[in-house]
Amino acid sequence: MNQFKSITSTLLVFFVAFSFAQEQTKTEREPGHTNQNKFRQMYQEFATPNMYRSASGTPGPSYYQQQADYKMDIELDDRNARLYGEETITYHNNAPDALEFLWLQLDQNVRARDSKSPLRNGNGVNVAYTTGSFAQTYMTEGFDGGFRIDHVKDASGKSLPYTINQTMMRVDLPEPLKTGEKVSFSIKWWYNIPDHTVDRARSGYEYFEKDGNRAYVIAQFFPRMAVYSDVEGWQNHQFWGSGEFALPFGNYDVNITVPADHVLDATGKLLNRKEVFSKEMMKRYGEAQRSYDKPVLIVTQEEAEAAEKGFSEKKKTWKFRAENVRDYAFASSRKFIWDMQAVRIGDRDVMAVSLYPKEGNPLWEELSTKAVASTLKSYSAHTFDYPYHKAISVHAKNQGMEYPMICWNYGRPNEDGSYSERTKYGMISVIIHEVGHNFFPMIVNSDERQWGWMDEGLDTFMQYLAEQEFGEAFPEVIAPNDKYPSRRGAPSKIIPYMSGDQSTIAPIMSNPENVFQLGPNAYAKPATALNILRETVMGRELFDHAFKTYAQRWMFKHPTPEDFFRTMEDASAVDLDWFWRSWFYTTDYVDIGVKGVKKYVVSDKPGKEMREYMEARNMTESDLPPLVYLVEEDREDTDKDMMGKSPSEISAPLKEFMMDNLTAEERARIKEPKYFYEVTFDKPGGIPMPLIVEYTYADGSTEQVTYPPEIWRRNDAEVKRVISAQTELVAITVDPRAETADIDVTNNSWPRKESPSEFNQFKEGIKGD
Ligand SMILES: [Zn+2]
Repeated sequence: MNQFKSITSTLLVFFVAFSFAQEQTKTEREPGHTNQNKFRQMYQEFATPNMYRSASGTPGPSYYQQQADYKMDIELDDRNARLYGEETITYHNNAPDALEFLWLQLDQNVRARDSKSPLRNGNGVNVAYTTGSFAQTYMTEGFDGGFRIDHVKDASGKSLPYTINQTMMRVDLPEPLKTGEKVSFSIKWWYNIPDHTVDRARSGYEYFEKDGNRAYVIAQFFPRMAVYSDVEGWQNHQFWGSGEFALPFGNYDVNITVPADHVLDATGKLLNRKEVFSKEMMKRYGEAQRSYDKPVLIVTQEEAEAAEKGFSEKKKTWKFRAENVRDYAFASSRKFIWDMQAVRIGDRDVMAVSLYPKEGNPLWEELSTKAVASTLKSYSAHTFDYPYHKAISVHAKNQGMEYPMICWNYGRPNEDGSYSERTKYGMISVIIHEVGHNFFPMIVNSDERQWGWMDEGLDTFMQYLAEQEFGEAFPEVIAPNDKYPSRRGAPSKIIPYMSGDQSTIAPIMSNPENVFQLGPNAYAKPATALNILRETVMGRELFDHAFKTYAQRWMFKHPTPEDFFRTMEDASAVDLDWFWRSWFYTTDYVDIGVKGVKKYVVSDKPGKEMREYMEARNMTESDLPPLVYLVEEDREDTDKDMMGKSPSEISAPLKEFMMDNLTAEERARIKEPKYFYEVTFDKPGGIPMPLIVEYTYADGSTEQVTYPPEIWRRNDAEVKRVISAQTELVAITVDPRAETADIDVTNNSWPRKESPSEFNQFKEGIKGD
């Protein structure tokens, strides 16, 4: 073997250390500075794992959750648009703590005359108002909403003391409720139902002037137990309007009394179908249970139009039982058309159901139930089999809101029945989204009040997949040879938001009340981040398995952000701390470019830096083994005589030395590179991402290399890579398929392209949002 070998390896160590030191100087911080490395583990940001929540992201051995069971008698006064109710709550304390009081949510109080929400919200004049909201804001005394609490009593009928603080009510218990104990108490209440089309209410009625009827979509309609957990204690943050709900699971027995001519559906199994259905409806229901390819009308449009003309003074009580749900909602009107079809999910049948007034047709009879059925299949495939027996889509003007088994959706054709593509896709998308919420947060029951993105972001991500699958399943519904035009999910769609004014962007990890633009913040950005994580960072196989693991671990439980983040790593062996930190905890954006390319030639004579190195150490070439030098081609200080022109000019002894270091097998495979380049990539954006590069060569061939995100771990601003090739390198493109949401593509190519045209194309591309 060669005598120089040990010297060579010493030198190699030196060179590696030398280039490493160069990299280090870039990120070196002054003493005392906190570690800003994006790849450091998230010990500061994450809650410490404990007996309730494990470091793996699973529920820990001491995990607990509370249970709240409800028995309710509800009556709808359609003449006066009022709702009356009496409920008995049985609250099970599974926490290790004793509870001196219980907190309940009185969400309707956000519409009380003395509500503080209007004082908190708004910022100056709106330039445009709907007539209804203008009238309500500036021309009337305002709606007289909010709960009227008639009484709160214990199981023996004795009054319990309670205190109302805006939208929260504290019920004081005579004795602390110990761990493992339960308590029953009842509340009697009523409230004026708001017109939900006026003030962006999430529930209420729509009044139809032409026939004088109302269609009710009723939710947040009863005092509901707040969540008590190992993370928040009582989640009693006030309801201001944006932060949605945190609710424990429980079983519901609900009797709802409405005018006898109403058609009604609700969360839970209908227990007295024979009492509330006509013989004809029972027959059609039987058909629907066997109809897997198209919906069967239970109430036809003709029947609904006939009902609109009357107003029954008689009453009917619809009885439901729902098990293991976190909330309850119902829809009721004499205007409703009703259709259903069966969907096979795993080894069970689920009913896909739609309720809509004639104003929703022809769109609703064509597409609603189809969208419900398709959503249940898509989401089940990516998470777990939909566990409830039905999923209902109710048409309500301008609504998009979800409850267990039932949701409200917009999408109304013009009066003549015509509709735009925008209306059609808007309707399909909102149905997919709201039905999808059955999975997040109705079953994977995250705290919406605290973390809007945990349900909205995950659901919007799933919505994107389900929309694309809907497009594939129903090519006749979408434009020929086209994909479903998803509004959110594709990387390019998030660029306008992430490149916007930093003073109006909040990190995803923010309370929904504290963000500036809830749509991009809690829906689009997390959805896009997860899409990029799936397609570009983890790959579908690893992502899908981890995402499903998260859904199944936390099905019917209360996960936190850490439980999600940890599970995604736990089930994939992909270190994602840098990803969560950048996308979820900061407002950084992606911008990666190619900064410059230097051409090198092979020489058996040292270049300038090497000569300086040797001089400093009083070394001559004879002290060294034969070395191969890469010398920059176009530098003024390069001695042109010392340069070789190609590897063939490497001196014979040197070549021999190189060959000596190769095995026979390696020698047989040897390819002599003729061209050497050092490419510098820079990263003006704060988010490290995989560096996806397409190299194009003079012979027309291209090569794509994806450098892992860790390429940025030692130098967050700039990295260099050496390219050796048989033919000349002629072009470099960073992120050639636009998969990283890179906000500025003018620096994505070498040589620089005529940027104006490309930038315009790029702007054209995002115009259609
Ligand atoms: Zn949503």
